[in-house]
Amino acid sequence: MNGNQTLTMIKPVAVERNYVGSIIQKITDSGFKICAIKMTQLTKDQAGVFYAVHKDKPFYEDLTTFMSSGTIVAMILEKENAVDDFRKLIGATDPVDAEEGTIRKLYAESKSHNAVHGSDSDENAQIESDFFFSKIERY
Ligand code: GDP
Repeated sequence: MNGNQTLTMIKPVAVERNYVGSIIQKITDSGFKICAIKMTQLTKDQAGVFYAVHKDKPFYEDLTTFMSSGTIVAMILEKENAVDDFRKLIGATDPVDAEEGTIRKLYAESKSHNAVHGSDSDENAQIESDFFFSKIERY
């Protein structure tokens, strides 16, 4: 990966509320190309591995329970400056603090149920992409 890709998940509540189409439209309208896409449900252990960086945080238990509670949609997205531009597009972790027009402002319920994930570095984008997708699932 070369700094032009990031990994996103549409989180369980957003999938359940049928926001998948609207969120993907917003992502592609913002210039991202979808290189890989998958609908799946994480086990609690898999959610724990994905969010291992947060394992000492007080919200780790709630986070892994929530992220394994329903279907998610994982995608690898490509665009110049993908990680930073996608973080701008999704907005702050807590939708109360997110800018108008961002995905979390539009579709998040709360800080914990905040509609989408976005990688926070090129290194994590690569690790997270490898978590979900094999080579032959990427285009
Ligand atoms: P992000 O990079 O903006 O997603 O935020 P973080 O890396 O800080 O946190 C990862 C995820 O943990 C967030 O997207 C939220 O879903 C969840 N989270 C963050 N803070 C809290 C919290 O205080 N309580 C709960 N239950 N979940 C949280």
